[in-house]
Amino acid sequence: MGKLFGTNGIRGKFGDELTVELAVKIALSIGTYFNGGEILVGFDGRVSSPILKRAVISGLLASGCNVAHAGMLPTPVLQFGVKYFKYDGGVMITASHNPPEYNGIKVIGPDGIEIPRREEEKIEEVFFENKIHRAAWNEVGRIKEEPNVIQAYIDEIIKQVNVRKIASRKFKVVVDPGNGVSSLTTPIVLKRIGCEVITINDVIDGKFPGRGPEPIPKVLGIVSKMVSSSNADLGVSLDGDGDRAIFTDEKGVTHWGDKSGAIIEKYLLQREGGGIIVTPVSSSKLIEEIAMKYNGEIIWTRVGSVTVSHKLKEVNGTLGIEENGGIFYPPHQLVRDGTMATLLMLEVLTHEGEGLSKIVDKLPRYYNYKDKIPCPHNLKKKVMEKMLLEVKCEEAVKIETIDGIKIWKDENKWVLIRPSGTEPIIRIYAEAKSNEEAKELVEKYKEKLRGILA
Ligand code: MG
Repeated sequence: MGKLFGTNGIRGKFGDELTVELAVKIALSIGTYFNGGEILVGFDGRVSSPILKRAVISGLLASGCNVAHAGMLPTPVLQFGVKYFKYDGGVMITASHNPPEYNGIKVIGPDGIEIPRREEEKIEEVFFENKIHRAAWNEVGRIKEEPNVIQAYIDEIIKQVNVRKIASRKFKVVVDPGNGVSSLTTPIVLKRIGCEVITINDVIDGKFPGRGPEPIPKVLGIVSKMVSSSNADLGVSLDGDGDRAIFTDEKGVTHWGDKSGAIIEKYLLQREGGGIIVTPVSSSKLIEEIAMKYNGEIIWTRVGSVTVSHKLKEVNGTLGIEENGGIFYPPHQLVRDGTMATLLMLEVLTHEGEGLSKIVDKLPRYYNYKDKIPCPHNLKKKVMEKMLLEVKCEEAVKIETIDGIKIWKDENKWVLIRPSGTEPIIRIYAEAKSNEEAKELVEKYKEKLRGILA
């Protein structure tokens, strides 16, 4: 059977891999799967989103589902809305941090999480085996507006932190939505809790003219300058659909998500006296070291936010962390949320009483290095099998195969070899106590892969 869903829903270039016709058929399949339920539909600020939204709504209605139209909003806000207003499911039109020509369709279950793989397969079965339910003319769904999702979200999310304490610090925060839809929530939430907010790239624009939709440190120079020149306490840059947040400290230095995640982790484990932390195998050892030190337990998962969410739900976890800036805080919701990450970071700053740069300085230090090697999809399985046989003969403390092959050379040094789910490449990640060691590891395993491929 064919596959529609990737690691993060259905994604593709608009008009090419993801056409309007395809979107209608996908929506008919999603609607058949939901079997006449009430579905909340939202969309991000991409140029093609209003078109795809209409196609998706048409498909859902034609399959007999009722649709509540939530309008333009961040992905975590739609997810919150599905759960809060008790819809049977949700559909979000977004391609998150992908380039502007892309778009995508995410299917949300009644718990607010994207449906797990086994449920996606049910939709694929409907789609590929033509089991679509087409409602009769007098049984098609009805559409209504649901304009209150953003307001409900803002009112509820601020209850997750101590507003009075945070407000007393009068933080100045630079917010950079990167022309994405977090413009509709993050600056407003921060003002509500007494922060002075300076915004940049805050005009929603599907061409993402500011710095592109993905908040990686090399494109955040303007945030860094703005934080320094305005004497701000913090900078926060969100991805296109607002579920990931990357932070810049008061000195203008931007930190990757493993560091900000570890800082929030440390705070929560101390506050709760322990807990379960869920994170993908590609994350830094830093996450584990903090967990060990503060009475936490760590659960490593496959790479992908949907996996982290469902694992958090299963084990009743305290926090989920992705190195790319994804923070999952279950008391709010089980999915990553850039605004929630920002509120937690402000709570940490309030609690610690010092700047983010000093808090980062106190963390154990690790160095990461990444590379990739081309490998056709059809060879990936064979190459990985061969690799596993080879590494089993090596000296290693531990070999894990949760996702790809992770080889621990010693307790602070590992390399992960993992085929990409979407691209014809195999990724190689390494971490060590020095940059040279990490780079050396990547080079060594790249050579091995080359050998196998030859
Ligand atoms: Mg995203």
